[in-house]
Amino acid sequence: MMDDVLQSALDERREQNLYRTRKVIASAQGAEVVVDGKRYLNFCSNDYLGLANHPDIISAFKNAADEFGVGSGASHLVCGHSALHHRLEEQLAEFTGRPRVLLFSTGYMANLGVINALLGSGDHIFEDKLNHASLLDGGLLSGARFQRFLHNDIANLDSRLARVQEDKNGGRKLIAVDGVFSMDGDCAPLAELAQLAKKYKAWLMIDDAHGIGVLGKNGGGCAEHFQLDINQLPILMGTLGKAFGTFGAFVAGSETLIETLIQFSRTYIYTTALPPAVAAATSKSLEIIQRETWRREHLQNLIAQFRRGAEQIGLQLFSSDTAIQPLLIVSAAEALRWSEALAVRGFWISAIRPPTVPANSSRLRITLSAAHSEKQIEQLLTALADVKAQQ
Ligand SMILES: *Cc1c(COP(=O)(O)O)cnc(C)c1O
Repeated sequence: MMDDVLQSALDERREQNLYRTRKVIASAQGAEVVVDGKRYLNFCSNDYLGLANHPDIISAFKNAADEFGVGSGASHLVCGHSALHHRLEEQLAEFTGRPRVLLFSTGYMANLGVINALLGSGDHIFEDKLNHASLLDGGLLSGARFQRFLHNDIANLDSRLARVQEDKNGGRKLIAVDGVFSMDGDCAPLAELAQLAKKYKAWLMIDDAHGIGVLGKNGGGCAEHFQLDINQLPILMGTLGKAFGTFGAFVAGSETLIETLIQFSRTYIYTTALPPAVAAATSKSLEIIQRETWRREHLQNLIAQFRRGAEQIGLQLFSSDTAIQPLLIVSAAEALRWSEALAVRGFWISAIRPPTVPANSSRLRITLSAAHSEKQIEQLLTALADVKAQQ
């Protein structure tokens, strides 16, 4: 029986403390969320700028729905590409300083779609070991020769590229990395990666899901923070469901890159376009991201405050300057216990366990947001000290 076979795999996962469950959130995203009738301080969302429930973005969404309806009706290439999608693409192109942008329905699909439009068998892809699952899956699916290099290890990547260069069969070479690593919070060494790409005539792609909107004075993300132009960084992917507070993703690059994606990217071609109202909401969000620099400044202050406080308590943080501030716990069972002990105290922080992170590196993925106040960070630190004392 199918269910017997499946059940034994489920049982095994539960015994390893790796079983995942969903909690039903009964409120909008924000510094506080309601679960099972109880209010929690939320320290695990990716709504880094506090825009997911912003009144102006909600209004833009509603107004667009009044005019354009809810569903987009079709894929972009059939009749689903609305004026609101088109306007957002132009605004994002200007924002990223790239000639052209293409919207995708999700970040996962953007990564699969880009890599598979660009590479096939006979080509080569190089990915950081800690890349997001969507980049890894995209690479595996492409049929290109797939190599994972040690996390942020330039020498390791250099030697792998050198070995491929000796192979006279050629093929395209793509280096693809997270700009900010989603479970660790550290940045990729993008200047060095761009140099290596140049040295070996490889193409560089970054997935800036956790940098776009947050890093750089204007919120331009890793490309702005590391000052990488389109020659150094020809493929820039960003997501809209995190700092932008809405939904979807985009790829920014040259005219030729974007045309190539329109023609060959299967996750672009064979899926329904985002609801146009989501695009309108995102245009409003982009405007706020650019105008309200205080959100990034406040977030940076909270990050510094949290790190200072955590150090005083003696917590084991990662070396991250971003809004992602994980706390290393090691065992999956213990990470669950921490998460539960914090929930009892009114804090919502999920335990991240394998296979999302490597074995014996389970952690609490604490994320900070411009929606938080200094007082809430103090409360979090007090709760963490309290839980630590009881271990
Ligand atoms: C969240 C995330 C994605 C996926 O984006 P979605 O729009 O949620 O599908 C891709 N890459 C990274 C690094 C992410 O953190």
